[in-house]
Amino acid sequence: MSQPSMPELDTPTFRLAVAQFDQAAQLMDLAPNLRERLKLPQRSLMVALPVMMDDGRVEVFTGYRVQHDSSRGPSKGGIRYHPHVNLGEVAALAMWMTWKCALADLPYGGAKGGVAVAPKQLSTGELQRLTRRYAAEIFPLIGPDKDVPAPDVGTDAQVMAWIMDTYSQQVGFAVPGVVTGKPLSIGGSLGREEATGRGVVYVTLEALKHLEIDVQNTTVAVQGFGNVGSHTARIMHECGAKIVAVSDVHGGLHNPKGLDIPALLTRYKEAAQPLQSLKMGEPLTNEELLTLDCTVLVPAALSEQITGRNASRLRCRILAEGANGPTTLEADRIIQDKGIFVIPDILANSGGVIVSYFEWVQDAQRFFWKASDIQSRLQDLMTSAFARTLHYAATQKTSMRMAALMSGIDKVAQAHLHRGLYP
Ligand code: NAD
Repeated sequence: MSQPSMPELDTPTFRLAVAQFDQAAQLMDLAPNLRERLKLPQRSLMVALPVMMDDGRVEVFTGYRVQHDSSRGPSKGGIRYHPHVNLGEVAALAMWMTWKCALADLPYGGAKGGVAVAPKQLSTGELQRLTRRYAAEIFPLIGPDKDVPAPDVGTDAQVMAWIMDTYSQQVGFAVPGVVTGKPLSIGGSLGREEATGRGVVYVTLEALKHLEIDVQNTTVAVQGFGNVGSHTARIMHECGAKIVAVSDVHGGLHNPKGLDIPALLTRYKEAAQPLQSLKMGEPLTNEELLTLDCTVLVPAALSEQITGRNASRLRCRILAEGANGPTTLEADRIIQDKGIFVIPDILANSGGVIVSYFEWVQDAQRFFWKASDIQSRLQDLMTSAFARTLHYAATQKTSMRMAALMSGIDKVAQAHLHRGLYP
């Protein structure tokens, strides 16, 4: 594996993204100059964010916005608020966004942003001031035709609303298309909040069909009960699957007969307590959840959860990667040898950016669609991306992950070749 030539990017998540890219580029025989270019971000911005805390102190946070590629259109990608956010992680997530958008045939490049902060430890006022200062600092980079942020770990529709307002105040008029994942009142889209989870379900149903497994006989374990994990669990449950385990950062709940997901969701929201404290199943650790005997395992928390340490103990038939980068390279090899069917992250979790694209189109047209239109268009795009990836994997005799990456990279490479080099 060749090393990135910017030492400040050199983190485990960035190394994983580059190693995956290198593998795919090797198989595709990608031109060396494109390899060098696409391994690095196009632009990276690091910002210092002084924020007035409620007790009168000023605390300075560090934020980032990275644009990996804009050859196919404006760049697109979420904003993460998490204490471990760093430049390398943001750059890796931006690179995955490039391949994800290309694989789904969306006219976007990839970007990502983040602030190193524990958002739950801030008051609403502190969170708002931090968000507005971050939006002001990344203002030169973002815009509906330039780069369009969205929610990711630790951010939500309210954070997007503050970014939209800060941007709009700078230019003097409302610009809904500067972010996606906004509230409906300011140009958000129906179906955006659940979109990533719903997309995970659509491709999981396709994989079950491919493997001739009845959804009624399917058991599912979901790591992470935030936006992606909770909607995946809810919709899989509605489809007739049995959800045998779910977890949050503090640990999980298990019931081999199936958890009562609707009741669990209501109690989790009301109580605002760790899942385990609700006592609605047997307690289990996140590590135990990953190695449960189940049909479908959905990692929907953070990256690098399935590693060389636990991969050989996985007992699922399908791994549907809701999270970005949940599987290390070493684990990937082990999982392939075990014959687990992998729906790779850039395919499995692309429902979020697909409905973000729908939101951006609706904002530009000032014309809003029905929920049923959004669901059917999402299903259409996801099932065709799944079918194309499966076909590519079969014809090129490669894994689903390599097939997804190679299809995405190829479209980006074509765009670079057609546009040519400037100047
Ligand atoms: P979120 O903040 O809503 O939820 C994250 C969940 O993971 C929470 O339940 C949290 O308790 C849990 N968690 C955090 N650290 C954990 C750990 N160490 N072990 C186990 N669980 C842990 O975030 P989200 O938006 O649901 O994102 C989850 C993943 O999905 C991320 O990898 C994100 O990049 C990816 N993703 C999100 C979207 C989206 O639209 N939100 C789209 C594509 C991909």
